[in-house]
Amino acid sequence: MEEHDEADIEGEIRDEVLDPEREARRRIALAQIRQYPDAALKMKARPVIEFDDELQSLVERMKLLMHDANGIGLAATQVGVLRRLFVFQPGEEEVLAVVNPEITERSEETDVADEGCLSIQGITVPVERSLEVTLVGKDEKGDDVHYELDGYAARCVQHETDHLDGLLMIDRTTPEARREALGVLRPRIVHS
Ligand SMILES: [Zn+2]
Repeated sequence: MEEHDEADIEGEIRDEVLDPEREARRRIALAQIRQYPDAALKMKARPVIEFDDELQSLVERMKLLMHDANGIGLAATQVGVLRRLFVFQPGEEEVLAVVNPEITERSEETDVADEGCLSIQGITVPVERSLEVTLVGKDEKGDDVHYELDGYAARCVQHETDHLDGLLMIDRTTPEARREALGVLRPRIVHS
């Protein structure tokens, strides 16, 4: 079961068919997430200094959006907030917020897998990532957190940390895959 689930996860999205109500929720959530080529997606986020009520509401909103959008990760820049935090779901249940995240260690061993992104719908591109990472930062209350991650969770936090630096999966893929992805994305932009 676990392995099957992992196979259906691409970067920060779950690739699965939803019932009509969940599909409607997904579309509503995606409409609230910045879509490529929105300028916010290319910007570097600033560190969070205050762990106040505003931050708590932002985290709650991001967790809901991520869930409804059928994602396993969502960075603040994707909702147009240029602050360093993301939410992610490393397992079946728990959803975590990581504020001022830093990847302090990466395994030299890497793998290449297709990633999707809630801000670049309908595209997957191969991205090489470290298999294991150490992630440190704060939770939404300001307490220190430290995670040793592997598998799709390690891939996801590398994808989310990139978002906070204005980097997208299409900036990390092969030149061929990037060209192909942009070929799909450009006509959409012209028509929107
Ligand atoms: Zn993304």
